[in-house]
Amino acid sequence: SLKGKTAVVTGSTSGIGLGIATSLAEAGARIILNGRVERDACEECAEKIRQDTGAEVEFVAADMGDPEACHALIEAAGGCDVLVNNAGVQHVAGIPDFPVDKWNLILAVNLSSAFHTTAAALPHMRERGWGRVINIASAHGLTGSPYKSAYVAAKHGIVGLTKVTALETAEEPITCNAVCPGYVMTPLVEKQIPDTMEKYGMDRETVIREVLLERQPSKQMASVEQMGGTVVFLCSPAAEQITGTTISVDGGWTAL
Ligand code: NAD
Repeated sequence: SLKGKTAVVTGSTSGIGLGIATSLAEAGARIILNGRVERDACEECAEKIRQDTGAEVEFVAADMGDPEACHALIEAAGGCDVLVNNAGVQHVAGIPDFPVDKWNLILAVNLSSAFHTTAAALPHMRERGWGRVINIASAHGLTGSPYKSAYVAAKHGIVGLTKVTALETAEEPITCNAVCPGYVMTPLVEKQIPDTMEKYGMDRETVIREVLLERQPSKQMASVEQMGGTVVFLCSPAAEQITGTTISVDGGWTAL
């Protein structure tokens, strides 16, 4: 059980982050939800988790593209025992046309934020004598795809950061691992379906199978609950000696 432990989940007002926060709340942790800006929906998310799980849930607005805000998030939480670096953004374009501001934003949010939150959180974890850092990377942290230069570079980078964090804490009761999802059914993925149906003149099932899941051999998307379950496992005693590695939850994508 994670009773008495505080979990900070960055970018947790929707999708995978919200699913992970919910699973950690079910496991008994106090939850700090985070999003870039204050919104009514955030309070709704927090209230729903509170009602479903009875956990203590707070929302802290902090832009993960801003190093100072990353530190401020951890301090606003009063430090944390579990840190899940989940906030992420995407942009798709060929390298010569890739907007420099998008490159900088993706590197800042998907990679540098994890460095800053980890730097802020580790002293607290050391003081408490226990810690779990879990970085949400991607199948794109292990393989490439065209037109996703910034995302693939940032996700490979976070796998590297995971290894170094694990080595610097190896002799302490702190672990750091990366979870590498393939396709997960989130509002972001759901939103792409109608457009893709129209573009290819396909029905919903065919778009999911043939287009979205082209590289996912299971031909099924993972769920946000499965992401949450993987994170809770990494916080469990069974995972104490698992550190510095990646866990793929990708239906076989990276086995190809
Ligand atoms: P999503 O868009 O639903 O969630 C992203 C979250 O990050 C949102 O809560 C958003 O508000 C937050 N966010 C974005 N910019 C932020 C910023 N500057 N500061 C703070 N929060 C910010 O997407 P998702 O699919 O749930 O993705 C979550 C993570 O999982 C990302 O790191 C993504 O790369 C990774 N991932 C997703 C999939 C997938 O299939 N959905 C696959 C592999 C990896």
